[in-house]
Amino acid sequence: MSAYHPLNETEAIEIASKLDGVFEPGAQLACREIGDGNLNLVFHIADPAAGRSIILKQALPYAKVVGESWPLTLDRARIESEALILEGKLAPGLVPAVYLYDAELALTVMEDLSDHVIMRQGLMKGIRYPLFAGHISTFLARTLFFTSDLGHNQQDKKLLARSFTNPELCKITEDLIFDDPYRDADTNSFDEAIRDEAQALWSDGELHLEVALLREKFLTHAQALLHGDLHTGSIFITPESTKVIDPEFAYYGPMGFDIGAVLANLLLNYASREGWDKSDAERERYRDYLLETVADIWTQFEEKFLALWNEHGVDRLANAAPGYKEAYMRRLLQDTVGFAGCKMVRRVVGLAHVADIDKLEDASARERAQRLALRIGKSLIKLNRGAASIHQVIAAVQSAS
Ligand code: ADP
Ligand code: MG
Ligand code: MG
Ligand code: MG
Repeated sequence: MSAYHPLNETEAIEIASKLDGVFEPGAQLACREIGDGNLNLVFHIADPAAGRSIILKQALPYAKVVGESWPLTLDRARIESEALILEGKLAPGLVPAVYLYDAELALTVMEDLSDHVIMRQGLMKGIRYPLFAGHISTFLARTLFFTSDLGHNQQDKKLLARSFTNPELCKITEDLIFDDPYRDADTNSFDEAIRDEAQALWSDGELHLEVALLREKFLTHAQALLHGDLHTGSIFITPESTKVIDPEFAYYGPMGFDIGAVLANLLLNYASREGWDKSDAERERYRDYLLETVADIWTQFEEKFLALWNEHGVDRLANAAPGYKEAYMRRLLQDTVGFAGCKMVRRVVGLAHVADIDKLEDASARERAQRLALRIGKSLIKLNRGAASIHQVIAAVQSAS
């Protein structure tokens, strides 16, 4: 195509009109940039007359994640497109189709999912997604199992891990999730009303030990290819369909980091319900729904992961050693719980928050949601190495509530 530069809408249309078999020659194309402009450009290009549309996502060479411009590798566009293609093979139907990747422009052309909504927005409105636990547990079980040493030839896995080496994006996670919230860092951002909570995080030695152990796991445990940023803003959804987008943070890491991300974001929404539901009864019902979903995701994930292991396990020793599968799944639950807790804490006091809580207009409801999210997050971090069942995890959430 051409040398790297951020595209404008006219250039995006020109590129789209030249793609093979997408639009009719001479079609009148309309283009809108729909991304938030901090990390990536996202162009929606449509031929309204023919009812056809596609998405062009282009990486920008910087991130404004720490308030000032921070150079950030364009290689993440390659990682994102390769991850989407691999996830699409391993978990068919659960990611957008990728039509083209252009390395020079750091550009991915993909299926338009505008008929779905971003899950975070759906949850804020109190919509229920009865198929979600089934879909996301399939996505997690299949992508994690088949890229791990359990389901993948160990030599090939090491080569795959090499092509998903993602140091710059991992560094963002290391800092924003495992470091900054636990000290008085400039990047932190929280309402003054909860300064006492932030300060408590900075001096909680028991918490610091658990976070240090989880951070070590994030840095060293190359267990499977992760999505790396699996919050409810990276999930497009309808009651019938689930599509995971935005895997630019993909790297080889601990499986519990992805599973924990999903659970944490459901629990952040749980913490925010007071501001969204019209009555106490409605709020309780929606919270029950969220907790059931958390339990269903873990239970179905475990079932599917073990079924894949029984059918497709490639590791002779791991298949045979008595008690190994049970020990593996127990550690996986513990990691999931710990990472979920870390992800909740950072969304309240760290740099990037979640709309579920930040969009609460009533300051006192927002403060209660923040305190609740922190209570749940801290209790999950402290529970993690002791977790033995998902029911125990649910009980911990309830007793923090
Ligand atoms: P970023 O990495 O900058 O967060 P995302 O991939 O999450 O970029 O996309 C940002 C936004 O662009 C999404 O929240 C969604 O609104 C829109 N978007 C991204 N991909 C698609 C798609 N395939 N179809 C429709 N909209 C999309
Ligand atoms: Mg964004
Ligand atoms: Mg995103
Ligand atoms: Mg992203």
